[in-house]
Amino acid sequence: MHDTLRQPEIRRADNVDLSRYNSWVEISRAAFAHNFRFFRNRVGDEVELSSVVKANAYGHGWREIATLARENGADSFCVHSLDEALDLRGAGFEEDVLIMGHVPLQRLEEVVEHDLRMMLVNGESLELLAEITERLEKRVRVHLKVETGTHRQGITEDELEHFLAYLREHPRIVLDGVYTHYANIEDTTRHDYAESQLERFRRHSDRILAAGFQVARHKHEEGGEPSFFRRHTACSAAVALFPRTHYEMVRLGISQYGLWSSKETYLSYILEHGAPDPEAPVLRPVMTWKTRLGQVKPVPAGAYIGYGCSYQTTRDSRIAILPVGYSDGYDRRLSNQAYVLVRGRRAPVRGRVCMNLTMVDVTDIPDAALEDEVVLLGRQGEQEITAGQLGDWIGTINYEVVTRIQPKLPRIVV
Ligand SMILES: *Cc1c(COP(=O)(O)O)cnc(C)c1O
Repeated sequence: MHDTLRQPEIRRADNVDLSRYNSWVEISRAAFAHNFRFFRNRVGDEVELSSVVKANAYGHGWREIATLARENGADSFCVHSLDEALDLRGAGFEEDVLIMGHVPLQRLEEVVEHDLRMMLVNGESLELLAEITERLEKRVRVHLKVETGTHRQGITEDELEHFLAYLREHPRIVLDGVYTHYANIEDTTRHDYAESQLERFRRHSDRILAAGFQVARHKHEEGGEPSFFRRHTACSAAVALFPRTHYEMVRLGISQYGLWSSKETYLSYILEHGAPDPEAPVLRPVMTWKTRLGQVKPVPAGAYIGYGCSYQTTRDSRIAILPVGYSDGYDRRLSNQAYVLVRGRRAPVRGRVCMNLTMVDVTDIPDAALEDEVVLLGRQGEQEITAGQLGDWIGTINYEVVTRIQPKLPRIVV
């Protein structure tokens, strides 16, 4: 179906020379396909499987991931901002794209022009869309976001009637979807709060049905007066754990990248499905973040390493310098905390992580040499440093670790 679409140029291991780079992110095509297959099997063919590629595809590279998602049968994309949606359009992605964040009122016309789907919670946007679609003689597809207990974006049940009445009077504004987002589905192994949100969502969607709108009978069904719409509530954790949250569409973010939303989500999953064979994990991390040794040098016992003299060697050492630092997304709180992988072994970070440089101790890896490949995140030989581990070291979650890796670093599909 997409053969006729323009394929964006992406960097692949066979069309780039990796020795040109100081630091880069490798994206495993096989791991991505494995994860995507798992989720497609979970939701079935009839459910719209939307690949969430906001925040540079959680740091994985939006162009590369959107290409892989398309190859693996993603039905559509979700992004946060209008600009992210326009990036996809500019690169030739003509699939449906849902903008889940606020669109500046000033720029609503671009949503209409590029035939994007848009999250709707503001009456002001609605009125401007009515004026714009009338003037351009075009339609726009909106997804109403309803409040079910997260108290982030969303409209209440009281506001719903007003929106529905307005939409019925303005058929150019097509109610294409209604959705919500769970507050704590990934934070706990108790899911009573998510259940209560699902119940509230059901009340919203029943009122929309009562107003004459109909649920899309098959994937991609749209239009109609009043329109066909799809219901969606599920993020990764909900897709993995609760089939009854799937409805007509799911929004798959972190887990397509092979990361569990949380330890609790993983635990809930294996409590129900049994622990997987360690040789055949349910999800496979897609990303490996690499750099190389920029210098390897002897440092005598008692020497201080880096800014602040926060580390002093206790023996004659060999210190290696990595050309990567906090400006690349290697968090400064990893100073004197983290390990990196060199020649399949762990090398501890010594001293403070600098803006563009990081020092590691390779005394116990005597064969470590200039330009050796270093893994900051991912697997090398038998060793692995996960996004979750890096998150634990600095007091955050895997999501933040991967999304903060600088977009300027090349993403290479391997
Ligand atoms: C980011 C986001 C998702 C994806 O969540 P994951 O936990 O990464 O799967 C889904 N829905 C909304 C509204 C989001 O903002």
